[in-house]
Amino acid sequence: MSYRSFYQQSIDDKEIFWQQQAGELHWDKAPVTILSKTEKGFYRWFADGEINISYLCLDHQVKNGRGDQIALIYDSPVTNTIQKFTYTALSGLVARFAGGLVTLGIGKGDTVVIYMPMIPQAVIAMLACARIGAIHSVVFGGFAPHELAMRIDDAHPKAIISASYGIEFEKKIPYKVLVDKAIDESVHKPLFRIYYEREEGYDVLNGPGEINFNQLLTADEVAYVPVLSTEPLYILYTSGTTGKPKGIIRDHGGYATALKFSMNHFYNAEPGDVFWAASDVGWVVGHSYIVYGPLLQGCTTILYEGKPVRTPDAGAFWRVIDAHKVKVMFTAPTAIRAIKKEDHEAALMGKYDLTSLQHLFLAGERCDPPTYYWIKDLLQIPVIDHWWQTETGWPMVGIMMGVEALPTKAGAAGLPVCGYEIHILSEEGEELEKGKEGYIAAKLPLPPGCLPTLWNNDDRFVAGYLQHFPGYYQTGDGGYIDEDGYCYIMGRVDDVINVSGHRLSTGEMEELVAAHPAVAECAVMGIADELRGQRPVALVVLKDGRDIEEMQLENELVGLIREKIGAIAYFRNAVIVKRLPKTRSGKILRKTIRQIVDGIDYITPSTIDDPIILLEIEEKIKARKIGIRFQSFV
Ligand code: AMP
Repeated sequence: MSYRSFYQQSIDDKEIFWQQQAGELHWDKAPVTILSKTEKGFYRWFADGEINISYLCLDHQVKNGRGDQIALIYDSPVTNTIQKFTYTALSGLVARFAGGLVTLGIGKGDTVVIYMPMIPQAVIAMLACARIGAIHSVVFGGFAPHELAMRIDDAHPKAIISASYGIEFEKKIPYKVLVDKAIDESVHKPLFRIYYEREEGYDVLNGPGEINFNQLLTADEVAYVPVLSTEPLYILYTSGTTGKPKGIIRDHGGYATALKFSMNHFYNAEPGDVFWAASDVGWVVGHSYIVYGPLLQGCTTILYEGKPVRTPDAGAFWRVIDAHKVKVMFTAPTAIRAIKKEDHEAALMGKYDLTSLQHLFLAGERCDPPTYYWIKDLLQIPVIDHWWQTETGWPMVGIMMGVEALPTKAGAAGLPVCGYEIHILSEEGEELEKGKEGYIAAKLPLPPGCLPTLWNNDDRFVAGYLQHFPGYYQTGDGGYIDEDGYCYIMGRVDDVINVSGHRLSTGEMEELVAAHPAVAECAVMGIADELRGQRPVALVVLKDGRDIEEMQLENELVGLIREKIGAIAYFRNAVIVKRLPKTRSGKILRKTIRQIVDGIDYITPSTIDDPIILLEIEEKIKARKIGIRFQSFV
């Protein structure tokens, strides 16, 4: 079937379309109600169905004869380990660990925070929670204790599962110490702290509620618990425009349906194929395409504890593809740029056999055309940019390679995926013509798999996503659609920035910078960065009478952001200015500041209060050599 007619069916006959897709799964009770609304008017998929996604990922695969197939390959260049788990072995471990959680009194509806490095125990913990209907909330291991504490206070976990340490290149990051700090800071205190000891004797577990991960694995296996399709499977926090992260909820049944559909029709990955998402279990890509998607589909998934470069070199990705015969790969453009920076001629690629690789999918940020052409020319396979968000859980726009291998266009994320009606709207909500840039919105209802609401916060769900354009989901991104229907996603229209594919809130950074005793006012913006896509920069106005050297202030703020958010924020520069450029109504002109730092010609906005300040900022930025003009890696 052609993409066009398949897509049209998904829009014209939504309920029939998704009922058919849901029929591809094993349900404990097949849904009769396909699409419905809650009292608050939020859409729900398969409300009366019963299912368990962990069962679908494990026991069901064993039942279908995949018991001896490798389910998970743990490839860890940082520990020099390759470990393979069959579906039977992984099922057993998950059922036992789930049994261990049950002995602690953890069950359906309880929340569990998981803060772990990229080790198999992270996957076991996630699947074990799902097996007993507990709701996991994985927090990316790169986040600092303050970020973890905020998530603990929102999710109220009964237990937290962690490990003694993570490894960044060659450095051990003491996770247990970070967890202890977070729990010191949080108001809510989890009853149990479960740690996986990576090295005997590294941690001494004797504090109240401290439990060894392996001890729970000695429990008896427990059976899976069928849950209502709409029960939360996990909470995944993502940055919004304020300092407080948003708890995106994912359900069991809609998510399972969407993932199965996407493995088949989007990624073109068949049962038995080796599928590698080079991401982290702390991000949505890790949830959907390291853990749940590939296992649901009976693929072999790869858990890679390493980097694209320096573990040990820029040939790391090519080694993994060759070693495990990867057919479908997924990574972020920033990873490709990192490889390109260190091995521009791709000399290391030649050492490996990459003939197994059929498709490379890229997401997390816009794939800039130079990166697209570099990797496409080298690999000589389809390179597919695709666009989605933590909120949706699976792709919104891309080329559906399992349906029709339509051409890609450099700089475009592709065509709308089945179930998503993408529109470009003006500030007032009017549909814009082809080629005109505006707000990207998706007409409601969203297809299965997308967020039903936010954890304990329906009001923020409405305010953040549904209110601006009634009848639509506001994505927070801006862009346009061309004559052929291809969508170009040009960046966020709010205060969210994307650093190396990681989504961060400049609002949160502003709150932290503004709390410095010398700072009267500040603006933090994302500026262009050749390697990371964007990075944050702060303009700071000092309190009257405060005299602090710019470099000293910068160092203190760099330390503060690193301590409170983590090194992933890549905050490096703070510039002292006399005043912030504002409109007469007091709005900070962030876009103009960004254009100045990025070296783009700008038009002085007519609403500006004091145009001279722009010239002052320009001089300062040039003197400090901040901005993409002063970078060059190729
Ligand atoms: P996250 O929720 O962390 O996955 O971040 C989602 C955001 O990343 C989106 O709203 C976009 O701003 C950006 N993004 C992800 N994939 C793409 C893409 N293929 N092209 C452009 N922007 C993207």
